[in-house]
Amino acid sequence: MKLLSVIVPCYNEQENVAYFYDELMKNGEFFTSNDLDVELCFIDDGSEDGTVAAVKELIAKDDRVRLISFSRNFGKEAGIYAGLEKARGDFLVIMDVDLQDPPSLLPEMFKYINEGYDSVATRRVDRKGEPMIRSYFARFFYRMMKKISKAEIVDGARDYRLMTRQMADAILAMKEYNRFTKGIYGWVGFRTKWLEYENIERRKGETKWSFWKLFKYSLDGIAAFSTVPLAIASVVGVLFCIAAFIFIIVIIARKIMFGDPTSGWPSLVCIILMVSGVQLFCIGIIGQYLAKTYMEVKRRPIYLVKEEC
Ligand code: UDP
Ligand code: MG
Repeated sequence: MKLLSVIVPCYNEQENVAYFYDELMKNGEFFTSNDLDVELCFIDDGSEDGTVAAVKELIAKDDRVRLISFSRNFGKEAGIYAGLEKARGDFLVIMDVDLQDPPSLLPEMFKYINEGYDSVATRRVDRKGEPMIRSYFARFFYRMMKKISKAEIVDGARDYRLMTRQMADAILAMKEYNRFTKGIYGWVGFRTKWLEYENIERRKGETKWSFWKLFKYSLDGIAAFSTVPLAIASVVGVLFCIAAFIFIIVIIARKIMFGDPTSGWPSLVCIILMVSGVQLFCIGIIGQYLAKTYMEVKRRPIYLVKEEC
């Protein structure tokens, strides 16, 4: 018998837990016919509602269910890391509890694992039910990442992914504190099969991602998987030096040939404002990387467990 670990990060999802369990267990026949034992790891990411109680209710009913409860909200990335670390399965799958990642896809995913793929990932082909501006920025982000990062980051990729123990161990070996899982998957490599499906709207409750949270997350992603922004300062610096040199030549030539007085302090003010703005911008970028480095060298744990059962 092989063991399949289903890892489910939950944050304030009391309405969805039991429903998710029912949906997953609809695959029961598939599990038994493929000699698969299942363990179901709910990672409670410091929920303030009845999520923990809902999971404990399931544990009382079914001893394949496990709960790992954090001391506070650490974010979904930490939840995924904890899940991969605590799960004991030969195969591991990460799923949202809101049923946006359909458990009915599991048999198809296993087909590809049996064919020799190391992981089967999913991406959604549309962004139905999402604000236009969010879709636009998301597309822009992925296009840009393709240019400035070596790690392959796929547009529309979800966290729903089935993988072998070997790949999970590779991901766990990346102990960085600023985790951007989409980049990490690409970075570790392995043979991945992509499945596509249409966006499904979440069953109950609200998405935890506001526009600004996503925006900040995208900046984290850039800082985690690209150092190109750090080069901006040097490039802009060189361009400005060239421009300044040309201006100096022009001014000297004008003075010699036409005897023009060197006039125009408004233009000077504009130039000073622009140059100092660019300087501050570049220092800001360096500051971002410095801040990330600072957090990284502290070697803080990625998550803290309050309760485990
Ligand atoms: N989640 C989590 N910690 C958080 C935010 C979200 O564990 O801080 C979980 C959440 O319970 C859900 C999954 O991550 O199972 C995806 O969250 P959500 O549905 O809000 O994101 P979306 O599907 O809109 O990207
Ligand atoms: Mg969701």
